[in-house]
Amino acid sequence: MLKFVNTLSGKSEVFEPLEGNHVRLYACGPTVYNFAHIGNFRSFLFVDVLRRYLKYRGYDLTHVMNLTDVDDKIIRDATAAGLDIRAFTEKYIVHFWEDADALGMERPDIVVRATDHIPEMIDLVGRLVERGRAYESDGSVYFKIAAFEDYGKLSGNKVAGNQAGASERVDADEYEKEDVRDFVLWKGTKPGEPNWETRFGCGRPGWHLECSAMAMKYLGETFDIHCGGVDLIFPHHENEIAQSEGATDKPFVKYWLHAEHLMVDGRKMAKRDGNYYTVRDLVEKGFDPLAVRYSLISVPYRKPFNFTIESLQGVERRLKRLNESVRRLREANPQDLGGQPDGLLDDIATVTAQFEAGMDDDLNTAEALAALAMLETAVNTAVQQERLSEAGKQGAIAAFEKMDSVLGFLEPATDELLDDEVQALIDERLEARKAKNFARSDEIRSLLAERGILLEDGKDGTRWRRA
Ligand code: AMP
Ligand code: ZN
Repeated sequence: MLKFVNTLSGKSEVFEPLEGNHVRLYACGPTVYNFAHIGNFRSFLFVDVLRRYLKYRGYDLTHVMNLTDVDDKIIRDATAAGLDIRAFTEKYIVHFWEDADALGMERPDIVVRATDHIPEMIDLVGRLVERGRAYESDGSVYFKIAAFEDYGKLSGNKVAGNQAGASERVDADEYEKEDVRDFVLWKGTKPGEPNWETRFGCGRPGWHLECSAMAMKYLGETFDIHCGGVDLIFPHHENEIAQSEGATDKPFVKYWLHAEHLMVDGRKMAKRDGNYYTVRDLVEKGFDPLAVRYSLISVPYRKPFNFTIESLQGVERRLKRLNESVRRLREANPQDLGGQPDGLLDDIATVTAQFEAGMDDDLNTAEALAALAMLETAVNTAVQQERLSEAGKQGAIAAFEKMDSVLGFLEPATDELLDDEVQALIDERLEARKAKNFARSDEIRSLLAERGILLEDGKDGTRWRRA
């Protein structure tokens, strides 16, 4: 039975989707003003593992992620670069997906940009104003916390809220609020800032508004799961609840899941502290991005994780060994055990049960990796002792692949020849023909044909294509 620790209740709860087999999931995405660091990617990879495990468990999934493409830091850095925010953020969106792809992250089903949803945000502001839960002041619109009783139910933070200095993301320049706790929904225009003309005047959205507006647009007013890093619990997610429930009077989200931080030397990895690595920093140091993935998902998401280069080196060695074990298994010749079982099928059942029990327990990836290691040991023993049946081999390969549909770091099976390998065989065939060794040249042609490579001999050499 799949269970999650829900930040809203602080308890472990059995997961039941609101509607049949369909799971609706919203995850806060990156603020695209720079390269994401691996701390950010710890949070995104947690969501990736969650999405993959929901699919493993047979759920239909609609997964939405936003890209925050307007905020103070974006405006600051775009201005410095002499670009409008659209052109500026575009570049970092491209880089974000390059890194995400390298880390083997599946794409969410729907990816949305804040600046493409200004009308939806304004509608939401309108609903809040109509209900007396928001007010206009000096060209901006604020959420009125005193008019929303449930404020604080996610974070437990009712009072300190939204005051300057309470969070790095709270603006220090909001003076016109009725109550210091109130937060801005719509910011009145300022010289030099991008702005949109709306019925609440010319301005731009506050940060929290986009996620409420876009989540409800694509997933409905109440949906199943909302995730992000723990630093988003307050004020961002608390404010999302206020904005959404304040407008609908319906529960916004059933399960709130939050990933703990990636730390360096006991401190949160953060851009402003300079203590961070990007994916490309690590690739430049020679690391396999899938080893980075392995490392970042190895600690269960609700536990803080202290990152070190040494531990990544260890993980990279571990992943190499694991890939070798799987490769040896794929290449192993099953033995004729005279009808005797090889024991592997029992091991596979045990290991799969352990993997699922771990993952069912609030995505305990450490347990899942321990299960994977058990399978590896069982397989290595069977291969070394030459006690591998065909059924055991196929079962073990399938079990590795199934677990990896969630973990996502194993080398895929490949019987496809790489381009270099094809070229080497073509060169060898040419040499064979020059030496009038037609038997070998024919052999190479048919070997390539078996692998789907078609040759065309022409005046200027041999060309090839895949069938
Ligand atoms: P941002 O691009 O700042 O909006 O952050 C994107 C995501 O990364 C959010 O879910 C943050 O909670 C998360 N995040 C930021 N720093 C860390 C960190 N050191 N460890 C884990 N997640 C983080
Ligand atoms: Zn958000």
